[in-house]
Amino acid sequence: MLEHDVIIVGGGLAGSRAALAIKQTHPSLDVGLVAKTHPIRSHSVAAQGGIAASLQNVDSEDAWEAHAFDTVKGSDYLADQDAVEFLAKDAPNTIIDLEHMGVLFSRLPDGRIAQRAFGGHSHKRTCYAADKTGHAILHELVNNLRHHGVTIYEEWYVMQLILEDNEAKGIIMYHLLDGHLAVVRAKAVMFATGGYGRVFNTTSNDYASTGDGLAMCAIAGLPLEDMEFVQFHPTGLYPAGVLISEAVRGEGAYLRNSEGERFMEHYAPKQMELAPRDITSRAITLEIRAGRGLHPDGTAGGPCVHLDLRHMGKEKIMSRVPFCWEEAHRLVGVDAIHQPMPVRPTAHYSMGGIPVNTEGQVRWNGDTLVEGFFAAGECACVSVHGANRLGSNSLLECVVYGKRTGIKLAQYVQNRKMPSFDAQTYLDKAQKRIYGLLEQEGNMRIGQLRQQFQDCMSEHCGVFRTDAIMQEGLDKIRQLQDQYHQIRLDDQGDCWNTELIEALELGNLLVVGEMILASAYNRKESRGAHSREDYATRDDEKFLQHTLSYYSPAGIDIQYMPVVINRFQPQERKY
Ligand SMILES: Cc1cc2nc3c(=O)[nH]c(=O)nc-3n(C[C@H](O)[C@H](O)[C@H](O)COP(=O)(O)OP(=O)(O)OC[C@H]3O[C@@H](n4cnc5c(N)ncnc54)[C@H](O)[C@@H]3O)c2cc1C
Repeated sequence: MLEHDVIIVGGGLAGSRAALAIKQTHPSLDVGLVAKTHPIRSHSVAAQGGIAASLQNVDSEDAWEAHAFDTVKGSDYLADQDAVEFLAKDAPNTIIDLEHMGVLFSRLPDGRIAQRAFGGHSHKRTCYAADKTGHAILHELVNNLRHHGVTIYEEWYVMQLILEDNEAKGIIMYHLLDGHLAVVRAKAVMFATGGYGRVFNTTSNDYASTGDGLAMCAIAGLPLEDMEFVQFHPTGLYPAGVLISEAVRGEGAYLRNSEGERFMEHYAPKQMELAPRDITSRAITLEIRAGRGLHPDGTAGGPCVHLDLRHMGKEKIMSRVPFCWEEAHRLVGVDAIHQPMPVRPTAHYSMGGIPVNTEGQVRWNGDTLVEGFFAAGECACVSVHGANRLGSNSLLECVVYGKRTGIKLAQYVQNRKMPSFDAQTYLDKAQKRIYGLLEQEGNMRIGQLRQQFQDCMSEHCGVFRTDAIMQEGLDKIRQLQDQYHQIRLDDQGDCWNTELIEALELGNLLVVGEMILASAYNRKESRGAHSREDYATRDDEKFLQHTLSYYSPAGIDIQYMPVVINRFQPQERKY
């Protein structure tokens, strides 16, 4: 059996930053980090637009309080304000810290770190490395991991969290290279497993964003928080769904409908294209529904709108957002210097996740904590984004709370013994599950079932929702879950069996999808990214609360938990 003081699942920004913080605090601690991809291929590497901090390099009026207020307002008042305060206060130091590690940020002419405008932020506070910010940060973090002696298990797939009596004791993982299973025992386990964009048929997320960490927690009996809040990013390139960063609008691009009109003036007259994402995605969806969308050939009545960069000029486009230009050129043949890009909303980010306190320790409910278990990054819900995340706050959350969780972990394991459990029983069960999948006889293909599921989620839990649509979605999901037992795998081997991994991931997607739908069905109001056509307004009296959803094969149990409000009282959101 493998053993570490701390085992971290996830090599993106959150997991890497936490591992580094542990080693920087207590170099003698033995830290293992597992990733199902190479850590550098974690979705964090694809982050484009930037990372927010009130450095005041471009806008001397900015302050951490303004950043905190924008974040809470953006969250539609569902964020926990103690968590937001720490995020906004720590942000400037976080950037300087990253810079000292070697991250190459874009610069102002005088050499200081440049900052740009982003949706929902009242000041220019987003630091960036052109439109490849995640790439710049993750490479430095992962280089530093190696330098500090963190043991990296790359291309190992974690199948299960070992949780006994409300205490996390380790994990079980499967090696893609040769199919062998291993149990890892640890004084503390941390999940930094990222998001679940693959629940939907159109997403900006990578193929590995399948919500594994969330599903493993749910199956172990732990709650998930605020799963109904799914962010649809306004500008997914049509039809691919890949992201065209908000930085493009931050640098001045316009959204136009089939009449050439900058339609955001009807939805957010002050902030226009830089309104928060929930508002902009709804606006685009309403324009398309009203027949003012476009077809790819430019004729009216189609499924997308135009993102127009032409007035920005070649030099600005190629220096500030070159990657977005390249994406549109490569994927849909559009040269954005001369033509508008076709865009529509795409599933992008998970506001909800594994409930944690502000030191990253997993919460069983409002008061009780789970021993030995921590989480940070997109898979966690601390909650700094509430019902709607502002752009460039996620990278920040990963780094700030990754580091904070690492520091706490280094302290926590000092007083903890290595837990004991019967590893063989867990290994036998995992082996049985794998054989079960390899040998099961059915006529359903993974791709077929996954497509039906993703279509179901997109149709029944998209930008706009109603009771009737979601109830139908829940019924369909339960049928699809039954069909999971009828999938047939062609590859029976143990060398690089990616089909088996896809089957395991699909099992997780089906659980996460049901948690999202059940949480959304029960929230009978509209708040942030959760827009109900049958309950069109926000209802603070009943629903200024966090959802906690508990999974069981018989159905989902929903409870609620208070929101921390200590500075900004809820107001109507206007932009
Ligand atoms: C295209 C795109 C652009 C973005 N741009 C920005 C931006 O400009 N600014 C911003 O603030 N945010 C942005 N975001 C959001 C932000 O990038 C993510 O929220 C953040 O990077 C998530 O980091 P993470 O460390 O939580 O997880 P990830 O980077 O997703 O890493 C997850 C890790 O967990 C591992 N893992 C998962 N499941 C398992 C398993 N079963 N076994 C083993 N390992 C597992 C994966 O291998 C991976 O290493 C963007 C997101 C996308 C998709």
